[in-house]
Amino acid sequence: MKVTNLMEQIVEEVLDEQWHYLNVSCPCELCKNDILAVTLNALPPRYVAHDRGRVIVQARMMQEQMKADVLREIARAAGIVSTKPSHQ
Ligand SMILES: [Zn+2]
Repeated sequence: MKVTNLMEQIVEEVLDEQWHYLNVSCPCELCKNDILAVTLNALPPRYVAHDRGRVIVQARMMQEQMKADVLREIARAAGIVSTKPSHQ
């Protein structure tokens, strides 16, 4: 692992934080993962060279800056997955 996509960490964190406020029709792990994937596909990746301490600091800073965008995309993804879950 040489680089990290900060966006992945940020979306995972915000999704966990907001999970109970989202109106998802199915709260299983599969649907949660689908929401994560749909959200990440809609947002630009932010790669950083792997350096643990710095990555965490950058993730924190970016999360604040991008929270509105991330929240909007998570809500949109939750809507998509709720309407059409990938399982029965
Ligand atoms: Zn489900």
